Amino acid sequence: MLERYAELNEGKAPHPKWAPAPLIRKRERTFPTLGWPRQTDSLCPECTKEAREKVLSGAQDLEAFIASNPGEVRADIIEQDGRVLMVKECPRHGRFEDVLSIDPAFLARIEDLFPGRDYEAPPTKLRNHGSSTIKYGRGSVLTVDLTNRCNMMCDPCFMDANQVGFVHELGWEDVQQILDDSLSIKPRRQLSVQFSGGEPTLSPHFIRAVKYARDVGYFCVQCASNGIRFAQEPEFCHEAKRAGLRLCYLQFDGVTNEANSHRKVGNLYDVKLRAIQNLAAAGIDVVLVVTVVNGVNNDQVGPIVQFAIDNADKVTVVSFQPVSFTGRDEDITLENRLAQRYTLSHLAHDMHDQLGVTEPMRDWFPLSAMNPFSDVVDLMQGAGSEFGALKCGCHPNCGIGTVLLVNKRTKQMAPLAEFLNLEQILKDMQQIADAGRTKPETLAAMALSLVRNFDPSRAPEGYGYTEFVKQFLSQIGARGGEVGASEGDAKDFEWRFLFVAGMWFQDLFNYDFRRTEMCIIPYGTQLGEISFCAYNTGVGFRQIVEKMKHTATVAQWYREHGRHPVYAKNQHLPLPQSPLTVVTRQNDGRRRLPIAAE
Ligand code: SF4
Repeated sequence: MLERYAELNEGKAPHPKWAPAPLIRKRERTFPTLGWPRQTDSLCPECTKEAREKVLSGAQDLEAFIASNPGEVRADIIEQDGRVLMVKECPRHGRFEDVLSIDPAFLARIEDLFPGRDYEAPPTKLRNHGSSTIKYGRGSVLTVDLTNRCNMMCDPCFMDANQVGFVHELGWEDVQQILDDSLSIKPRRQLSVQFSGGEPTLSPHFIRAVKYARDVGYFCVQCASNGIRFAQEPEFCHEAKRAGLRLCYLQFDGVTNEANSHRKVGNLYDVKLRAIQNLAAAGIDVVLVVTVVNGVNNDQVGPIVQFAIDNADKVTVVSFQPVSFTGRDEDITLENRLAQRYTLSHLAHDMHDQLGVTEPMRDWFPLSAMNPFSDVVDLMQGAGSEFGALKCGCHPNCGIGTVLLVNKRTKQMAPLAEFLNLEQILKDMQQIADAGRTKPETLAAMALSLVRNFDPSRAPEGYGYTEFVKQFLSQIGARGGEVGASEGDAKDFEWRFLFVAGMWFQDLFNYDFRRTEMCIIPYGTQLGEISFCAYNTGVGFRQIVEKMKHTATVAQWYREHGRHPVYAKNQHLPLPQSPLTVVTRQNDGRRRLPIAAE
């Protein structure tokens, strides 16, 4: 019955305040070209760097640079020798080749599960897409770089912190304007507002910015941090929580100090443990963010997920980010690039091989597969809602995810797809959203879908349908109060949905404008709407914008504000000495209980 639910029950789609027109159905959406062989627009790494250098040196102005589509070349996406490759040829610099997947069947499945895109193809292939081109979708993360200063000197560093010779730091009015501007764009969807950098906690406006983002209506306010301040100053965590910080996107590259040593701090793992403890004590959720470099720390994939399972009362998400050769890594040698390239298919296989659970062909979905849930939330919120639901429309080659169900107390764990037919639930949710029925009817149809797709005989012991439904409704924010505004995986559940995501940002070697177009994120006052990949990688607008808008040279900044510490050369950071409550593992793999509990 749910297979034809929309067709048989089609109601009137509401026209919410936040959207420019009534909610649209799947059949009204446009889709990108997927599969292979296919052609796309890409960049010649060498031509792009030359063209950018001309702007940075003042030899060419920005408008002419944008109008000339610098470095653009056609690229082929093909299958060869059991891999999916991007191959392109520049008339001046020759052939470039890079790997998109080491498992074509895995990538084909992920592309097949892509649920549809929500905006029309922008009129230009490149940057600065005007907001009028968007119909109903929107980027899901608003990244606000508070400062390019950092208290570390990592290698790699995606944005070349501390090395560019100038400080680019937002003033308070800039922060306000970016957030205000983001609200003026229709569709006005909930966004994860992420304060980033450099190290955002070095900005004097950090706490005030978090509070302002909450005050204007965003409920998921987060920061991307190396964790040093949170580790060293427990009270700072409480201050951030009082301001409204919901989660910390914590850089975390491995479960030993050695596995983090490429970031040049001798006791960096100890710093992370202390930061996790302090953040959790203040009530801030932790997302572990792992830059994965093949041959450097990909052996940490399984141990990091195990660490998250062991600490599921504190950690909500693990976000693996295969290295993007950008910033200081743009000039990587061919040999190193081939050796260090890590794709989302590597991730699915490493997780299976190292953790002993999750199946690449069953458990992984494109991040955008969650969109039917957002559509249902939009429908239930109705016409009066100020914000649409958070919605990630990213290209299936950019982001994937899987969900583990973890008991926070006993550490029992099972992949969700083991006892839940997720593919069918996603289809059902799209039918239910497209039907456009009332909230009670929608909830009833959802309950029907959940019951028919939940297999209690395969669920972990002690986890039943009632528990699952309550948790599911909480996860999409439909349990009491305003739909979509809850804190999701609420603290009162014994079980947690632990999300494991893979987010692969592009670089000059694998750049695909079709991917970039689908990742539109408002960057506020400086370039209008621009995607993370267009800003940080590819053409590299970050370097141009930061130079154009730089606040001071580093020397001037230090004269006026004094120096802040930069931890490097394998230095050990001083840390508080109170007992550690984070669970770690001994060399033999046995769980080391929190000191306080021993
Ligand atoms: S913590 Fe490391 S990667 Fe992050 S901005 Fe600082 S130097 Fe760069």
